[in-house]
Amino acid sequence: MNCPVCSSETFGRVELDPGLFALRCESCAGNWVGGAGYWHWLGGRGENLPERREPPAGEAPPEDRRAKPCPECRTSMFRYTVGHGVGFGLDQCPACKGIWFDAAEWEALRERNLHDDINSIFTAPWQAEVSREERRRRLEQIYVRRFGAEDFEEVRRVREWLDASPRKQELLAYLTDPNPWGV
Ligand SMILES: [Zn+2]
Ligand SMILES: [Zn+2]
Repeated sequence: MNCPVCSSETFGRVELDPGLFALRCESCAGNWVGGAGYWHWLGGRGENLPERREPPAGEAPPEDRRAKPCPECRTSMFRYTVGHGVGFGLDQCPACKGIWFDAAEWEALRERNLHDDINSIFTAPWQAEVSREERRRRLEQIYVRRFGAEDFEEVRRVREWLDASPRKQELLAYLTDPNPWGV
């Protein structure tokens, strides 16, 4: 078995959470959870823990976007963006279903109670929502550049207020009328 990040062959067995075992690369501290391991652990748990959105993720460090080889069966792993303000992605082997966590990623997921949602992260609906979130974030950056942060904040507030008003059309007509007094 080779580490998909640093190619080391030395792994030690660790318990990530009670009942959830992983092989940890002794050189880069990445964790490998075998195919059945995660689902078995998840099935033995009670309720799904509510997600925590804090603390906000800092600027994500640049990640190596190349597909990693599965440490167990060498198949190229699929990469799934976690989203929800988490700056890294997870790798899953499409063949043996094992999951790779770079060093400290498991702990970061647990901090937000996302560690029991990994089965959901790998689904199409989750990934579609992450893409929408990503698109919104990019557009927001464009607006902030165009209007300046303060004006964007204000125009967004006005827009939300308009959207919530039953008189939205009338208010809009007034706002955009070049001569609302008719004089
Ligand atoms: Zn390694
Ligand atoms: Zn595999």
